[in-house]
Amino acid sequence: MTVLMKAPAKINLTLDVLYKRTDGYHEVEMVMTTIDLADRLELKPRDDGNIVVETSASFVPADERNLAYQAAKLMQERFGVAQGVSIAIEKHIPVAAGLAGGSSDAAATIKGLNQLWQLGLSTEEMAALGAEIGSDVSFCVYGGTALATGRGEQITPLPGPPPFWVVLAKPPIGVSTAHVYQHLDLSRVSERPRAKQMIQALSEQNFLLLVQSLGNVLETVTLQKYPVVKHLKQKMVEFGADGVLMSGSGPTVFALTQKESRAQRIYNGLKGFCHDVYMVRSTGA
Ligand code: ATP
Repeated sequence: MTVLMKAPAKINLTLDVLYKRTDGYHEVEMVMTTIDLADRLELKPRDDGNIVVETSASFVPADERNLAYQAAKLMQERFGVAQGVSIAIEKHIPVAAGLAGGSSDAAATIKGLNQLWQLGLSTEEMAALGAEIGSDVSFCVYGGTALATGRGEQITPLPGPPPFWVVLAKPPIGVSTAHVYQHLDLSRVSERPRAKQMIQALSEQNFLLLVQSLGNVLETVTLQKYPVVKHLKQKMVEFGADGVLMSGSGPTVFALTQKESRAQRIYNGLKGFCHDVYMVRSTGA
């Protein structure tokens, strides 16, 4: 038996950091939604008990550092499964981009192994396992659109947004999430993201309110350190975006619009000076 899984990327519609907890994690509040940009995973059982990962991107580790490997190992040990698994990951989501690519691969592995090893786990149980791998994995188990709180692992599903186009641009820089959190100074954040207003926009299917409610406190760190990210946002607005924001800790920024022709214009404009540009639909509904 072979199980094929799609592992979609997410974007943050809002990202707020409330405070630093005594356990070192940050308490966050984020509204996230999936988009039609996805890795593909093929899971095949192995009788030798080994977990073997292969990825199409040579720079993504295929050993125990891979989040899909970690997810498989955790499930094998937790449920005493004798079988192993071969996991082939076809990467399409840019790596270290703020789009939760690795987390989504881990979530797809958990869901795929739940089928392959017939474990009968509920979504809540799989999300709790995912949280042991990484804070964004729980959201990726649910997919769709959700509010994530705690360190990001507490998920409340939300109504999906009205359909829109997403044009993403990833400048050729790597951003360390840990660095961004370390340098976040909440006293310098003048306007906090409005998660409640975003949730209202979702329940009303109000695209205008949705773009007005976009916000990410981590922009205060990443945009200052990497002016190219700010520049890309400005270009997106010039090309006609209705709303623009950085996803996660960056460096990917995205533009939203409901008009395909406008999305195409933004895509074409950005292609002139950024190599990694994608135009996809929202899938969080
Ligand atoms: P997030 O938005 O959750 O912060 P991200 O999109 O910024 O995540 P990832 O693409 O998940 O970042 O990659 C972060 C790091 O994780 C990379 O340095 C990569 O080497 C490692 N990694 C481990 N497993 C994977 C995987 N399956 N796919 C991509 N990267 C992986």
